[in-house]
Amino acid sequence: MSDLLRTGGPHNIKKTGRDQYSMSISLPTDEDGMLARECPSSTCSPGYFKIKPGTGITEGHTEAYCPYCCHKDEPANFTTKAQLKYAEQIAYREVSDGLDRMVKNAFDLGPSGKKKIGGGFLSMEISYKPGTKPTVWRPFEEVLRRDLVCPKCTLAHSVFGIATWCPDCGSDIFLTHVSKEYQVVKLILSDVDNRKERLGARVAARDIENALEDTVSIFEAVLRSTTRRYLRSAHSPQEVEEILKRRIGNKYQSISLAKEVAQQEFGIPLFSALSPDEYQEFELIFEKRHPITHNLGIVDRKYLERVASGELEGREVRVTVEDVARAADLSLKVLSDFYPRVFSSAVQL
Ligand SMILES: [Zn+2]
Ligand SMILES: [Zn+2]
Repeated sequence: MSDLLRTGGPHNIKKTGRDQYSMSISLPTDEDGMLARECPSSTCSPGYFKIKPGTGITEGHTEAYCPYCCHKDEPANFTTKAQLKYAEQIAYREVSDGLDRMVKNAFDLGPSGKKKIGGGFLSMEISYKPGTKPTVWRPFEEVLRRDLVCPKCTLAHSVFGIATWCPDCGSDIFLTHVSKEYQVVKLILSDVDNRKERLGARVAARDIENALEDTVSIFEAVLRSTTRRYLRSAHSPQEVEEILKRRIGNKYQSISLAKEVAQQEFGIPLFSALSPDEYQEFELIFEKRHPITHNLGIVDRKYLERVASGELEGREVRVTVEDVARAADLSLKVLSDFYPRVFSSAVQL
């Protein structure tokens, strides 16, 4: 009987035993040459990231890390479910091709898949119709992602949420992620003039308002994530979520409350990187967010009267590109000073 699988070929099939074969399947990369990876820990979220093969640690790489939970494992154990399915489908295809050949050989069936046995009174026809081969699907990949390069080992990789560790060298590169987020805000701001020309003043104003929202959201998310990680050293995950709900809430959205909370939770001053003037400026810009979010940017007659009477100066209530860019810079300044004080292993910007 012929062998089930033909050796060689694109998957480098080798016969390793009587009924054993090995096959190497190269996993498809996306259009940017990135390879999807998944954390082996079932409790990790989002647990999904991408790396660029050929960057980072290219030789003697025996340990890989999850950028979200720091789970350490062999690089091969970070294969995604979609990739496993893809490999299974390719293997299944090879096996179904092999079975096909074996059946045809065993019954000496020609290319038609038919053979006539006997003649006269008794004759039978054997025919064999191969089953349909499974279609091989490429793994599903997400579009939303943050691309970055590890400042320590130069691994190009992408993540889909707040991440901390480099998948190759395991360094704490949280601040690189944070600075990437603020870069996005500044990119949006850099296009406001073009958007104004093409789409009008209201769209441009909304872009600025949204960019301020984002700046505040990043600041809050970064501090929440830092607090979560810090508290986990002494509390269970449930306790940590309880504390975040009870003691933190949305206080990190406000500069003065964030200052209090950080002092109380970490015993470390949050704004020591800022001069008193910078602190005040930072607080003022963050506060401009309230009229935006609470009134959906709709002004009432009273508001216009107050502006007209000079009670409110235009520049005090209107948020500008410069304001938001400044808030993004000050946020990054604060966080890149504070975070390494909390976690000394952090790679500084
Ligand atoms: Zn993980
Ligand atoms: Zn690295």
